[in-house]
Amino acid sequence: LLVRHAGKVIREKYFREIANGAKVLSLALTEPESGSDSTKIRTFAEKKGNKYVVKGHKIFISRVKYSDFMILVARTKPYEKVERKTEGITLFVVDLREVKEGSIEMREIRTMSNTAAYELFIDGLEIPEENVIGEVDKGFYYLLDLLNAERFMIAAEMIGNAEWFINKASEYAKNRVVFDKPIGSYQGVQFPLAKVYAELEAVKAYFNEGLKYLEEGSDVKGIGNYANISKYLATEIAWEAGNVAMDIYGGYGYAVDSNVERKLRETRLYKVAPVSQNLVLAYVAHHILNLPRSY
Ligand SMILES: Cc1cc2nc3c(=O)[nH]c(=O)nc-3n(C[C@H](O)[C@H](O)[C@H](O)COP(=O)(O)OP(=O)(O)OC[C@H]3O[C@@H](n4cnc5c(N)ncnc54)[C@H](O)[C@@H]3O)c2cc1C
Repeated sequence: LLVRHAGKVIREKYFREIANGAKVLSLALTEPESGSDSTKIRTFAEKKGNKYVVKGHKIFISRVKYSDFMILVARTKPYEKVERKTEGITLFVVDLREVKEGSIEMREIRTMSNTAAYELFIDGLEIPEENVIGEVDKGFYYLLDLLNAERFMIAAEMIGNAEWFINKASEYAKNRVVFDKPIGSYQGVQFPLAKVYAELEAVKAYFNEGLKYLEEGSDVKGIGNYANISKYLATEIAWEAGNVAMDIYGGYGYAVDSNVERKLRETRLYKVAPVSQNLVLAYVAHHILNLPRSY
């Protein structure tokens, strides 16, 4: 997103630190009244002289307390005053090390996974105008670049989780002896593992094909299709592999020390975030199958 759309000042000021991995970034998009329906955000950035002053409310913002920068998604034109709902949204780089005291209150939301998620109450946050990413009011279109890349990233993570579950459960099945034989010798244990392994191979092939589109970069629709479907398939297979591992571990899967239940909880998040599986299916229905839009 920044490489494609950020201007000279952002490049000179922040690129080196972000690119060399020394600094942590978070994305503040979701709001209490606007999750899946992201164009309905209400957080508003008003231009005052050479800066923007922001008031709003964000929720479930990962890592923000430990981040150096935040990409803030805010309206610069109210939803009611734009012709297309995707217009009037602007992206800002917020340097969290420089924000005025009291302009962002952060409250932790305790969740079932290890994501440090925060609710943000923003009032009087000042952002210099040179921290606008790309053009004012056009941020939603830039955001798609970020969201597609994020979907590939989640898919990669979920493929890794699926492999982790399969490898861990296979090892356990070789060593756990029940009725005088390793449970891995019973087909009731082998077949679910073999099934998720075979399905995962197909998901990996699809994902790797998509990466070629992402790297080549010109076929925007192709990238969107592969990003969405890869995220969907990889999350489904990781979730299935996690449940297979839980079954194979028997009662020991519930033991915190096995780490299987933790990984399963972490995997569950991606059924909902950063985009829910339903919304991916809606994308496929609307953008690939050309079915009438449901929203
Ligand atoms: C741990 C965690 C970390 C997060 N980190 C971040 C972050 O760093 N930055 C950020 O901006 N956000 C973050 N999020 C927010 C996340 O992206 C949203 O939760 C997600 O986009 C879904 O929005 P929602 O929770 O408001 O669900 P809703 O939009 O209220 O949806 C609820 C349910 O309704 C279904 N639904 C809604 N509309 C339709 C429809 N038209 N058709 C069919 N089904 C539909 C959805 O699929 C979902 O199952 C995080 C969330 C969590 C839980």
